[in-house]
Order: sequence, then structure tokens, then C-alpha cells
Amino acid sequence: MERVLAARGPRSLLRQIREVMAGGGPAQGRLDMVVRIIAASMVAEVCSIYLRRATGDMELFATEGLAPGAVHVTRMKPGEGLVGEIVRLGRPLNLSEAPLHPAFSYRPETGEDPFHAFLGVPLLRGGRTVGALVVQNRTARVYGEDEVEDLQTIAMVLSEMVAAGELVDQEELKDVELAPHKPERLKGTRFAEGLAFGVAVLHEAPVAPEQLLSDDPAQEEIRLQQALEALRNQIDEMLEGQSGLVGVPYEVLETYRLFAHDRGWNRGLEEAVRSGLTAEAAVERARWEHRARLKEARDPYLRERLHDLEDLADRLLRHLSGETQVERQLPENAILIARNLGPADLLEYDRTRLKGLLLEEGSAASHASIVAKALGIPCVGRLVGLRDRVSQGDAVIVDAEVGEAFLRPRADVIEAFEARAALRAQRKAEFAKLKDTPAITRDGRKITLMMNAGLAVDLENMNETGAEGIGLFRTEFQFMVAEELPRLNAQTALYEKVLEAAAGKPVIFRTLDLGGDKVLPYMEAQREDNPALGWRAVRMGLDRPALLRMQLRALISAARGQELYIMFPLIASVDEFRQARAHVDHELAWAERRGRTPPASIRVGAMIEAPSLIWHLDALLPMTDFVSVGTNDLLQYLFAADRGNSRVSERYDPLSPPALRVLKTICDACAETGTPVSVCGELAGRPLEAFALIALGFERLSVPPAGVGPVKRMILSADREAARRSMAGFLKGSSGSVRNEIETLARKLNVAL
Ligand code: PEP
Ligand code: MG
Repeated sequence: MERVLAARGPRSLLRQIREVMAGGGPAQGRLDMVVRIIAASMVAEVCSIYLRRATGDMELFATEGLAPGAVHVTRMKPGEGLVGEIVRLGRPLNLSEAPLHPAFSYRPETGEDPFHAFLGVPLLRGGRTVGALVVQNRTARVYGEDEVEDLQTIAMVLSEMVAAGELVDQEELKDVELAPHKPERLKGTRFAEGLAFGVAVLHEAPVAPEQLLSDDPAQEEIRLQQALEALRNQIDEMLEGQSGLVGVPYEVLETYRLFAHDRGWNRGLEEAVRSGLTAEAAVERARWEHRARLKEARDPYLRERLHDLEDLADRLLRHLSGETQVERQLPENAILIARNLGPADLLEYDRTRLKGLLLEEGSAASHASIVAKALGIPCVGRLVGLRDRVSQGDAVIVDAEVGEAFLRPRADVIEAFEARAALRAQRKAEFAKLKDTPAITRDGRKITLMMNAGLAVDLENMNETGAEGIGLFRTEFQFMVAEELPRLNAQTALYEKVLEAAAGKPVIFRTLDLGGDKVLPYMEAQREDNPALGWRAVRMGLDRPALLRMQLRALISAARGQELYIMFPLIASVDEFRQARAHVDHELAWAERRGRTPPASIRVGAMIEAPSLIWHLDALLPMTDFVSVGTNDLLQYLFAADRGNSRVSERYDPLSPPALRVLKTICDACAETGTPVSVCGELAGRPLEAFALIALGFERLSVPPAGVGPVKRMILSADREAARRSMAGFLKGSSGSVRNEIETLARKLNVAL
């Protein structure tokens, strides 16, 4: 013990703890040794470790200084005693006269009468308190800031070691609530359809226990300072609108800046590093402390601040890792767990192993969801408390049919899930059999069924599903997943690849639809109060023609000698279409002057997304070669309900008289002028909605890949004329939804939904 007494400060103490761990022997013996050396190092007469049982009780697991007979006997109920108070607060409790505290609960078996001074800190994992580390002294005194800091550092290391099974016998830990281990079911929202079962992988992976302690605190402090400096610069640049990850609202950036420059936050990190933690562990410690403190906050403002701090911690960790983007290793059947993800984050993972995605936040129209859909990865979002409820390696079920997640499911739940997955696979196989069957209704109407795409990987789906072409190619995806603005050559190369993969089937390239919620990390974005009504899509292209021209040039060059379809998004007036089309003519003339082979034919179309066009179709349609109805946007504008905001996006039903009448107006006007018209919004991919569309007269649909099979099956079973006759009545309906009526009709007509 001599060496122990001579050594002071958490660094040497942590080293000693490490040695104890390496020493082997029975777990309880090691834990006893650990409390002894902590007591010695902190010059405390008592040091105790409490761990939380699954019941919520805090049990004394080891002590130096209290009666040994109290170990595994003394238990505090949730909220009981000073230990309960630490759990409740999620932060240290520093008392000179512990017995005078109102929460103090006297336990005779511990023999703690003579001790007055009390310092206890929570053992945190994720945002949860899993135990407490306490020191006590006879003499009444308040512990110094350094001592509190040191004890917190020790607590962080201890909680990791305990969780990793290095200090306490795993058998002993069976019901200790170190990590949630009971089966749980969380309800969320379906972002990308499907089912998956696998192993949880945390996107923001915790720092591995062996990386908690640094060997050289001075060097570690330099690393921390450099990362903090880089972080502050990044935020300052973002605020000045010069670079960086835009798409973060200005107010949030301001808060970031406040935190990033906040002395308290910085000092906390510095002290943690000086006390022997790695910079990463220090960031993690600060994060957990904040989470534990703010988790219970009801105040939405405070909860938001917690998010800001989490983001800041993530950014700082990225700076510490040097931002090197290595492909992350995944186990087989990985289910990725994250608070939120950017589309580029998702593409960093090995696609063959990534089977599902669970998000604590996010929205169905977010890019991560659209990319997940394109990759066929089932995704459920808005799962409140997700990250605190899952540990790395937990078994998880993603039920993106219903919109739920099952954490650590029981065997019977897994069984039921597997039966459903088998059924789904069977249906998929049935759809696959239909892939070469033309989509013709029972009464002989040919429906052209195409697919939406946006990444090169999507094209594999074309052959698999038998889609007759790409009715909407979202070119902005290439821009969204890139690190920097794709140049002419990169764009041309992608379009060539797409056309080649399409092998003669039509591909409708939509020009960049950026802005709104689609922001680029490398492009300056101005803050707008209403981004969905702001400077987006073709508006950007017309105001900044260089980018639009470059894209048109790439398209014209990639399609040399072939058919080219170009479509402009969010046209709101005929003049915009006229101007956009003039850019195409200009680029064609340019290519011609240079003697380049032009496309064999070129067709230019408009998306109908702005309601204004509906009253100007007579002027618009003769100017276009085709149009496509983007119902995602059209309906959000029609009903004044943000498609990305779940509080309002489901307030109205697309199967309602106003929406159906608008769609019919468009369909009829196109029939009159002979303009080819398709519907390419998400709703076209749902069998019942698609049934309504064909009943209205639409004969071209472009749907997400997973919708091709189900919609084709519906078409093959439908009698369009019969449906059409009944539709007229629904259009006159006087309620906000005619979904039930349409469904009843479909069932009466034996339509496969
Ligand atoms: C739409 O708005 O319906 C559409 C297809 O375009 P996006 O979803 O890309 O806005
Ligand atoms: Mg749109």
C-alpha cells in the first residue's frame, strides 16, 4: 500500500486502477482494491461504489471505510438517500454536513455515523446514471473543485470498466442496470418501408475503454486545444456564411458559438484531460454529464440546447479524429442507430451489411430517408429516447411496416417477426415474377410504370423491378452526397452511366432541385424564413445560370446520339419555363458550334408542383413536351402543410375531393393538348392512391423502386373504366377524405391492394 499512498492525483490513481484490473483475481477482490486506492488517493476515510440494479435500487457493491457487512446488503430505493439524490440530479453532490441534508437516510448497518463530509458523483453511461461513487470524511468540509473533478474522471473510467466486465463479475452484474437489457418497444414513424433484424451499431460510437486514458496529458491538451480551435473557426465561418455545414439555422449557430467559446465548457474539457483522460473521453464525459442533467428537462428550450451540445460534441470528436472518412466496419446484419444522419453519412457504411436504420429524430422527407429508401434500407425515425435505450451489439428489430423498433426482443417476438419477414420475401418473389409482365389493366389499358431514382446504385433496381424507365431522376442527390461541387466531368460521367444502365429505356433527368430542405454542405446558403417558399429549384438555376448551364452541358454531352429528357422542377410561371427552355437551346447551339454530336432527340418538360400552374395549363402545356406532377410539393403547397413537418404533413388526405379535382384538372388538360403526363410523387407508389390516379385517367406513374411490384399487381387486377365511372361521385364528395369510399370501391372491384 505504500506506493498507493505516495501516489497522488487521478492520473497515477488511474494507472493504479489499471494495474489492479490487469492483476486478475476474483472480481470482488479487485473492486475492493479499487475503493481502497481511491480512498487513499483522495485522502478520504470512506470510498464506496453503488451500482444500480434493474429494479432501480442502488446497491453498495464495495466500500473502504464503511462496515464490510453492508456490502450487497445496503440498498437504496430509487430517490432514496443521498445516493438517490445523485441519480435524480445526474450531477455531483458535495456536502460538508451530510446528515443535515433533507434527503439523508441513515443506515445503521453501514456504521457511517462519524462521517460528516460527503462527495458523491454519478457513474454515467450514455445519458443514464448507472451507479454512484462516493467518498466521505470525518471532518466537516466542502470538497474542492479539483477533488470533484478528479472524482468525476475516476467515475467515468470506472463506469466503462464495470460495463466492460473488467471490475465486477458478469454473473454478479446480471441484473445490474448498466445498460438497458429488458426487451423494449419504441414507437416511431416509418421513413423507409421494410423489415430488418440485426445487431445495433451506434453511429456515434462510444470511446472504447482502452482509449479512455492518455499517456501524455500535455500532448493530449495540445490535441484538445487544436480541435477546439478548429471547431471555433468552423463555427465562425459558418456564421459568416462563408463555408461549412449550412442548413443549420442561424440561431442554432449562435448557440454553438456561445458554447464553443464558453469558458465553463472549455475548462471542463481541459481539466478532464489534465486529470488523465484522452481528449475524446473528456468530450464524451462532458456530453454524458449534460445529457444526464438535461434529460429530464421538460422545457423545450433546454432540450433544444441539449441537442446543440450533442452536435457540438460530435463535431469536436470529428475534429479530433482528423475528419478522416474511413469506411466504417460493420458486423453482418448491422442496424445503424443514430440521432440523425446526413445522406453522406449513410453512404459511408458498407451497404451489403447495413440492414436497417433507426433514428431518434429525422423526418420522412429528409435526405437520409430518401437515400435509405433508394438503397432499400428499412428506416424508422422519431424514436424518442432511442440512443439511451440501446447499447452497441444489442439485438434489434426494425419494423418499418408499422413504424416501430423492438430492442432486445424476446424469442416469441423474433419468431413472429421472422414469419412476417418470410411473408414479405414471398410477396417480393411474387412481384419479381411480374417484372416482365406489362402493366395492363383488366380492361386492356396500358399503364407506363416507371421508377424514381437519384443515385447510380438505384439503377440496379430497374432490372430487378422491371420498371419501364426512370420517370424522375433527382440529379441533386449526386450533389448532396459529394464533398464538393461535382464538376462538369463528374456530372457527365454519372449521366453517361445512368443512360448506359437504362439501356435505351427513357430517363427523365430533373435539373437540380436544391434549396428548401436540400442544402449542400459546400454551398453558401442564405437564411430564409420559409425555405420551402424560398429560393430553390429552378429559381436558383435561373438566377445563377452558370450552374444550370453546366448541368445542361453535361446532360447534352452524355446523351449524344440518344434520347434526352430534361425536366425543370418547381416551375411557378410560364415565363420561368420559357427562360429555362432557352438555356437548353443555348447549350444545344453551343454544342453544335463545337461540332459535338447532339442527342438524337431532346424533350423538355416541367414539373407541376406550384398550384399557380393549374390555372395556366392552357398556356404552359403547348410549350412543353411533357409534364410530371410532383404531388409531394404540389400537395404541400395546396394544403399549406410542410411535407417535412410531421405535425402538419398528415393533417390532410391526398385522397380528398380538392386534391383529386386538382389532379383531374391536370390530367384532362393534358389529354386535350395531347401532352404526356405522369405522376412522380411518393403517393403514386402506394396501391390505393395509384388506383385513384388511374381512375382519374393517368396512364404514367413513376414510383419509388419498392412501389413498382405492388402497384403493378394492383394495375393487373383493376378495371379502369369501372373505376373511372365511380370516381366522378367521389370528386363531388363533401368530406375531407374519400379514402374509405375509394377503398370500398377497390375491394368491390377485386383490386389487389
Ligand atoms: C415532388 O415534389 O412530388 C417530387 C417528386 O419532387 P421531390 O420529392 O424531389 O421534391
Ligand atoms: Mg418536388
